[in-house]
Amino acid sequence: MKKLMMIPGPTPVHQSILNALSKDTVSHLDPEFVKILKETLEDLKTVVMTEKGQPFIIPGTGTLAMEVAIVNSLKKGDRLLVVSHGFFGDRFVEIAKCYDIEVEVLASEWGKIVEVEEIARKLKEKKFDTITISHVDTSTGVCAPLEEIGEILKQFPETVFIVDGVCATGGIEERMEDWGIDILFAGNQKAFGVPPGLSNLVFNEKALERRNSLGKITAFYMDVNRWLPVMRNPAGAYFSTHAINMVYALHQGLKIMLAEGLEERFKKYKRFASAFQSGLKELGFDLLAVEEIRANTVSTILYPAGIEDLSFREKLYENGVLVSAGKGVLAGKLFRLGHMGNISENEVVATLSIIEKTLSDINYDFRLGAGIGAAEKVLFAK
Ligand SMILES: *Cc1c(COP(=O)(O)O)cnc(C)c1O
Repeated sequence: MKKLMMIPGPTPVHQSILNALSKDTVSHLDPEFVKILKETLEDLKTVVMTEKGQPFIIPGTGTLAMEVAIVNSLKKGDRLLVVSHGFFGDRFVEIAKCYDIEVEVLASEWGKIVEVEEIARKLKEKKFDTITISHVDTSTGVCAPLEEIGEILKQFPETVFIVDGVCATGGIEERMEDWGIDILFAGNQKAFGVPPGLSNLVFNEKALERRNSLGKITAFYMDVNRWLPVMRNPAGAYFSTHAINMVYALHQGLKIMLAEGLEERFKKYKRFASAFQSGLKELGFDLLAVEEIRANTVSTILYPAGIEDLSFREKLYENGVLVSAGKGVLAGKLFRLGHMGNISENEVVATLSIIEKTLSDINYDFRLGAGIGAAEKVLFAK
């Protein structure tokens, strides 16, 4: 049986995207490919709401994008402030340490966020060259108040503002230009619903200037200045071979997204998140993050007493639905449910129904249909 992939990436891949992958592999200078690459770069800008931003599509995944953002905005000895809401926030610290960047961390308890005032205080205390924040930290399911943070950062124009949108871009609104984000990167295999294999980043003018001000950096393939001529004029330059078929897939993924409409998509995920959350609450589960900071792309769902993590997830998988385990300190206490990418009500309803079947299989005490009923009220109420 094909399993429903309700994990925070990779998310289910639409057949038309799989078909795009199987198109003929042509030269990176083939006019048809060049046209597709150009459109893909433009569509990326539309998704993050920028006109002036410079997009980059580089073979890799989200983690490579994190590293690209770091090495192009900081050098050894420069100062980085990491705002961390979990596992992926902490990953920036590890990356920065590889390059001997001086890093300070403002970390929240897992499931909470660092207050905006605290970030403001830290920035006033001393100068930071760059600040990073994950829009949604996939390990904790919390969503950072980017717009508010962007507002504060307007007082610190010398600090480069990096946003990790891997678990958010295309699923939750991100207004790169209005919110003053300097480098934003997305994840192919998360809210875009495309197979993993590409790093998608957008740099604004300030970020490109920062790259130039660094001079020689400790990177070759990850140096955005080496990719810049190719991204500006795909027809005329070679730096490194594009992942041709992956670009086809991303192109199709973006077309689906834009045809549906970004606003529609953002609303849809909010509705799906609420449906899951009310359904699961009705079944006795609780949510790690409070409502105000809860992500619409992934939920972190705490087990009620009497449910053992591994046996629940194994049984659920056997019944047809894959969810993810908790990370770090949250391991065993919760499971993570992805609800982003190219999914519809069908996946939401099927997932909840199979969760109920699984709970019944493990003899958990509940009323069959209670969760699905609560979810349907959110999904189908007039
Ligand atoms: C998944 C994820 C990453 C890492 O992306 P990979 O594609 O797995 O390398 C980074 N940041 C966030 C917020 C993520 O969810």
